[in-house]
Parts: sequence; C-alpha cells; structure tokens
Amino acid sequence: MKKLSEFLSYGHQSIDEEDIQIVIETLRSPFLTQGPKIKEFEQAIADYVGTKYAVAFCNGTAALHAACYAAGISEGDEVITSPITFAASANCVRYMGGTVVFADIDANTYNIDPAEVRKKITPNTKAIIPVDFTGQPADMGTIMEIARENNLIVIEDGAHSLGAEYIGKKVGTLADMTMFSFHPVKPITTAEGGIIVTNNEKYYRKLQLFRSHGIEQTEHSIEQGGWYYEMTDLGYNYRMTDLQAALGLSQMTKIDKFIQQRREIAAFYTEAFQDIEGVIVPEQLEETNSGWHLYMIQLERASRKQIFEQMRYLNIGVHVHYIPVYWHPYYQQLGYERGLCPNAENWYERALTLPIHPNMTTEDLSIIVSNLKELLNQSY
Ligand SMILES: *Cc1c(COP(=O)(O)O)cnc(C)c1O
Repeated sequence: MKKLSEFLSYGHQSIDEEDIQIVIETLRSPFLTQGPKIKEFEQAIADYVGTKYAVAFCNGTAALHAACYAAGISEGDEVITSPITFAASANCVRYMGGTVVFADIDANTYNIDPAEVRKKITPNTKAIIPVDFTGQPADMGTIMEIARENNLIVIEDGAHSLGAEYIGKKVGTLADMTMFSFHPVKPITTAEGGIIVTNNEKYYRKLQLFRSHGIEQTEHSIEQGGWYYEMTDLGYNYRMTDLQAALGLSQMTKIDKFIQQRREIAAFYTEAFQDIEGVIVPEQLEETNSGWHLYMIQLERASRKQIFEQMRYLNIGVHVHYIPVYWHPYYQQLGYERGLCPNAENWYERALTLPIHPNMTTEDLSIIVSNLKELLNQSY
C-alpha cells in the first residue's frame, strides 16, 4: 500500500495567479464592498445558468435564508427537504419559524425521492427545498410537477450543482429560486459566498431588500430628498464584498474546465469500482449530468469505520456527507425521531466520500483506487 506524501482533502479550492491578481486590483479600487464587481458577478452567474436575475450574498446559508423570506415562509408553514444534506438546507426554514418536514431519499441516487415528497404534503405545506446532492440534480421534472399541482414554491439547493444539467438545461432555471454556494470546496469559490438565481421579479426585489437591512428607495423617500431612504421590513446585512465578487468573476472563467476535470475523476472512480463486490457506485439518472461536487460510494460488506480510518492513515482524505439532519441534537430536541427516513439512515451507515477536486493528479487517483481495492480485499 502506498501512503500519500501529503494529506489529500476530499475537496479543495483551485486558485491561480489570475485569481490573486484580480483580488489585489479590487483592493486598490475605490470600492471594497457595494461596488461594480457585485453586479458583474451576478450578471456572470445569471448569464451562465440562463436566468433573468441573480442576487449575491455573503454565504450560501444567508442566500437560503433570503429565499425563504422571499417565499414568505413563516410560522405554521411546512417545508419539505431531504435529510441527507448539509444542515443549512433545513435551518433556513427554522430561521423563518417554519416547520421542516423530511422526505426520504432514493437509495440509489441519494437524492430526495419525489414519491416520498408527495406523501409528506399537507394543507400547511408551502415549499419544497430539493437538494442536488453530490452535484447530481434532484429529479426536478417530477418535483416541479408535484409543486405545480399543489401550488408550492420550489427553492432548489444547488450548493453542489453549479454547472450541472437536467435534460440539457443548466441548474438554475428549473426551480422558482436556486441557491449556489461559493464556499472553498464548492464548484467555484469566493471564499465565503452564495447567490440566488430566479426569473421572478417579485422574488428578486425581496431578495435585494432582505440582503440590505430591508432598506429601499420608496416613492416617499424620493420626494423627501437624496439622503432619504426607508426601511420597510426587517432585513439583514447579508452583502457580499467586491473582493469576493472579483474572485468569483475570475473563477467563473474556469468553471467549465473545473467541471470537466471533476467529470473525468468521477468516470475514473466509476470505472474502477463498478464491478467490485460490496461497493455500490452512485446511480445517475438519464436526465442528469452531474457536476460531481462529491463522489460517494456505499460499502455493503466492509466496515465503513475501518476503511475510513485506514484510508485516513494513508493520507487520503475520505469523508462522510452527511449525518441525517434530524439526527442532530437540535432537531432531536424538536421531536424528530430516529427511523423517520429509513433509506437515508441505511445509506448513511455505508456511505463514504472519496476525494474529488480539480487539483488532483492522475497519480493521486490511481493510488487512491489501488489502496481502497486492497483494503476492501483484506476486509472480506
Ligand atoms: C455548502 C452548503 C450550503 C451552505 O452554503 P454556505 O455557503 O457554506 O453557507 C447549503 N447546502 C448545502 C447542501 C451545502 O453543501
């Protein structure tokens, strides 16, 4: 077995000299925040995914909070999401006082199962937050059908899926609002950052209001004079800086290359593990073309804990994404019980994330694959 000379994380940003230079230039410019880079970055994302509007935020979680505000979620409203996601997909509902309803996943794609969503709809259901887990779009065709039949708003959590496609259409145009995150491990980075894209002007206005204290120029404020503004609702300071937006603009010129590299790594893993006994590789729907934020296998026979520790010892940064959200003490205290989503729980016990990011070399890849194959052989 071969130990990597340095620890290789499951995910990592890819920053080059060009990225560094554009941030330095912005530091020397008149605007560090609320300047021209924000609008340019928003336009670049909107053009890339094909939406009319984009509103950038200081992080993806703030963006999800704003989307829940724009959707009008409040106490008494139920919002359906997946239990296999980062906690923020559910927490944003709680920020607005809403109730989170978890619908089980499809055991093969790891994404929320539309049939389970249907079962969870009640007269109080207001919205669905499907998550494009690992970068593979959720079954958005079916989810949008369910939403239209039941008059529900769909906020897609695309934290993993910028650049991914569903029936040839980029994620971003499928739902009422879509969130992308720019945390360093995500498809592109602004260090911290997030965005909501939408085609709906009403949501667009509300997102802008929420991002900046609920302050706007009303007709009344214009009559008062140039200094006057009005705070018409309770908002936050959720703004992105121009430094972040400048980095994001530079990163966007490389996104297609990043996604291509991720797709090649994923294809290599699938090829290596699809015929290995006791390993399940991620199923891809015919409709989807994943951006491969994560590559996750399921270990049917080997001990996940043992393999995890052995791989970590070899400096290979395997990981597990994610603990079912309702297992966290905060959600347990709210009364969610274990056993709620059996597919999600079974899946979680066996899941293992393998490193995938554009900085990996082909040598890293072959070392990871041969080590894991050998460890699996030993464990049987
Ligand atoms: C990263 C992530 C978020 C939150 O994004 P931040 O930018 O880190 O706040 C939300 N949902 C999912 C699925 C994520 O992976």
